[in-house]
Amino acid sequence: MSDRLTRRGMLAFGAAAGLGATALAGSAYAQTTTPAPKFLPLPLEAKPRPVPAEGYILDRIGDAMYAVTAGGNQTPFVVTRTGVVLIDAPPSLATVLPSAIRRVTDKPVTHVIYSHSHADHIAGAAAFGDVFRIAHEETARTIRVARDPNRPMPTVTFRDRYRLNVGGQHFELSYPGVNHEAGNIIIHVPQQRAAVMMDVVIPGWAPFLNWGTADSVPGILTAHDGLAKLPIETFVGGHIHRLGTPRDIKDSRDFSYDLWHTTQRAVAETRIGDYFAQVEPGHQWGAFKLHYQAIADRVEPEMIQRWGDKLAGVDIWTRDNATTIAVSLLLDAPRNVQ
Ligand SMILES: [Zn+2]
Repeated sequence: MSDRLTRRGMLAFGAAAGLGATALAGSAYAQTTTPAPKFLPLPLEAKPRPVPAEGYILDRIGDAMYAVTAGGNQTPFVVTRTGVVLIDAPPSLATVLPSAIRRVTDKPVTHVIYSHSHADHIAGAAAFGDVFRIAHEETARTIRVARDPNRPMPTVTFRDRYRLNVGGQHFELSYPGVNHEAGNIIIHVPQQRAAVMMDVVIPGWAPFLNWGTADSVPGILTAHDGLAKLPIETFVGGHIHRLGTPRDIKDSRDFSYDLWHTTQRAVAETRIGDYFAQVEPGHQWGAFKLHYQAIADRVEPEMIQRWGDKLAGVDIWTRDNATTIAVSLLLDAPRNVQ
């Protein structure tokens, strides 16, 4: 890490911690040329929960829904009168998921709903045999191309909406458009006052690097809008330590829009021409690199100041996510994001 980068990182951290430049310059940390990574502490709401001896946490949602959480991954299931409906089958939970289900019911898994195609969520599906599988048509298309035997093809697909009724429980599947991935759906379970959407809202946390290589950044905002309208008490986001609430959806939505608007302002306040003047004539990539660095320099300290003590990891990916939004503003150029 260069001295320039080191100092910039410290200033951002210092701004969040309420430290002035004088305090930083006088600290031992400021004089170290190769400091160990020093991240903002995790807010209380983002800290890990104790894991029982079984090696996973089993949360109950409503009167028939459960979620299994272990190792930063999380997946729910619903016990109906006739069988168990699984939502995803993460390979990382392959050993604990069957025993977690057996703890609450003897009924077999009869259905698997695929939230999207990503292997970390559904590449444990083959282990549940020839069950009824439901997915968005884009998810089916991606699975077909991937030719992964651990992700068997869905039995049925849908485009906009699908209502699944199993043993007295209802599942309202809907597609808000391309978001984290093309085909990533919202699963509303009204009788349990719960909703599931993977990899968009991570309760208590700022987004992962580029929202996990999001297929559409404006679509991430649209997906948040869809989730915010649901009449629910519990939200399952698929990762890290705990379940969410409508408050977590609101925080993630507010953060995402704030990051979008702050980046939009930083783009408006900087001029790419200024950076072309600093590089070899015609060096397109060099000028864009400097431009995006300047945008991230403006966005990161603001976001850390407003969100650093509310959401975990704001200091980790905000620079990268600001760059992703700057590119999206240039290429997607959405006019529907307010
Ligand atoms: Zn994913």
